[in-house]
Amino acid sequence: MRPYQKRIVIVWVVMIFAFLAILGKLFVIQVIKRDKFAKRADKIQKEDNTYVLPRGTIFDRENNILAMSNERWSIYSHKRMQSEDRSKIAGLCEITGKKIGWIVRRISVDLAKQIEKEKIPNISFIPEHKRFYPMGEPIGSLIGSVQFEDNAEKIQGLCGIEWSWNKYLAGRSQKIVIEKDGVGSITYTKERFPEELCGYNLSLSISSSIQYFAYKKLKDTCLKYKAKGGVVIVMEVATGEILASCSWPSFDPNIYSDWNPLERRKVGKDRLKNKAVSWVLEPGSILKPVVCAILLQEGVVKEEDRFFCQGSIEIGRRKIFCVHKHGDQTFRDVLVNSCNVGMTQAVQRLDDKILVDYLKKFGFGDKVGLGLAEEENGILPRGSLSALAKSNLSFGYGLGATPFQVLMAISTIANQGLLVKPVLVSRVFEGRNSLIKEYHSSGKRRVISERVAKQVSEMMVDVVEKGTGKAAKIVGYKICGKTGTAEKATPHGYDKDKVVASFVGWFPAEDPKVAILVMIDEPQAEVRYGGVIATPCFREIAEKMIILYGIKGSEIVRKNI
Ligand SMILES: [Zn+2]
Repeated sequence: MRPYQKRIVIVWVVMIFAFLAILGKLFVIQVIKRDKFAKRADKIQKEDNTYVLPRGTIFDRENNILAMSNERWSIYSHKRMQSEDRSKIAGLCEITGKKIGWIVRRISVDLAKQIEKEKIPNISFIPEHKRFYPMGEPIGSLIGSVQFEDNAEKIQGLCGIEWSWNKYLAGRSQKIVIEKDGVGSITYTKERFPEELCGYNLSLSISSSIQYFAYKKLKDTCLKYKAKGGVVIVMEVATGEILASCSWPSFDPNIYSDWNPLERRKVGKDRLKNKAVSWVLEPGSILKPVVCAILLQEGVVKEEDRFFCQGSIEIGRRKIFCVHKHGDQTFRDVLVNSCNVGMTQAVQRLDDKILVDYLKKFGFGDKVGLGLAEEENGILPRGSLSALAKSNLSFGYGLGATPFQVLMAISTIANQGLLVKPVLVSRVFEGRNSLIKEYHSSGKRRVISERVAKQVSEMMVDVVEKGTGKAAKIVGYKICGKTGTAEKATPHGYDKDKVVASFVGWFPAEDPKVAILVMIDEPQAEVRYGGVIATPCFREIAEKMIILYGIKGSEIVRKNI
């Protein structure tokens, strides 16, 4: 072969190898690694994002909104941003100073549209939402709040109804694809939220106007007496529907979700607690009507039986005291005078097991069942009880109860001896009207006879007419009530300076419509009796209820005016 022919062959061989190499590479790209490369190309033009759709709305009994999710937009930068682009956004809203990642979160739709007009490259507009609570602080401890999780893009209920009903309220996740144009900047995505993927809506039995008013009265009372805290619950007697459930101190759930964990710690857990269901306390004298009902039901005492109070009585090695000597009195007056000595004497006639069994039937020692995760069981004594332990129970000590348990038990007397379980969440529904679940008071359970319930109700009218609850009187209305001033247990025994002043009652006596409980924790005042501290708060809420619900007064009382 001539030298020039050799060169031609070499060139050909090189060319054929080069061609084969290109073919091989193409084969690898087109056939073997097709999927991988296709995905990579896709990724340049599309960006997958998982979003959680809006939470459900929470309504009150009149369809007023208590919590809702508003549409917001966030801006995300997937490439390092130029400083002039950042300053354009900074000129319109506060930014975090980041060059990449989340630039600004949950801005209004209007603001997002203004920024969009700037045509800034390499940023995405991402739909989000923000929780809004129109009532704010008055409903904070009941409704709770939500927390944003930056990484998971989730909004989670943090306390109250938002937490306890998160399973229903939370919106489901959905993938939204954002498409990029040729130069890599991202086009505005305008996907709408499909209603069926949004969270379920809830209807509460709460009435916004009563909740607001009751909270205001509770707060005023707590501030007036420099109290540590307090609770007010308003309930419709026949249905068990809760019209208001307030706890003070409370918090504004609107600003809560914006706080960082450090700020939350500063505020403290106490303000986040719904004391109406989580506060376990010795209720004191407001429990006396329940014990009276048990004693009358078991037939160990009659209303006209006589008891003598010398101001104190010895039980074992302990002395039980009254505020003063009540002298000779009927059993009816023992309740009207709130006489500890009389109660102690009467309760000794009853077997301890029967007493505790009745308290269980009245709902103590078990969750009320409102569907709130913070709810406590309370504490009931176990085993055989000493004479002193029985005596303590007769005036509301030696057991732990939540405010809701106390109101439910007392309302059993208002409901002619039938226990009615309170209802807070009445309906769960999807979209506008599609009903998922409905809740009513789960069956009425007889605890005491109608006759005994009527007897105790009449005794409780006298508590307000002649006894310790006079401050609850409303002209033209017969009101049933009971005061309580419970000393709090400390490591050094019961402290006279630390009391829970309370009042529980319902009206009108002949046809009970509304039951109200007021509890004020550690009021600071010369006179700390429930009849002085808590009763006026009850009366003011009751007067408001009379106007709002048009509750008619008592014929008999009217004639006497
Ligand atoms: Zn007495």
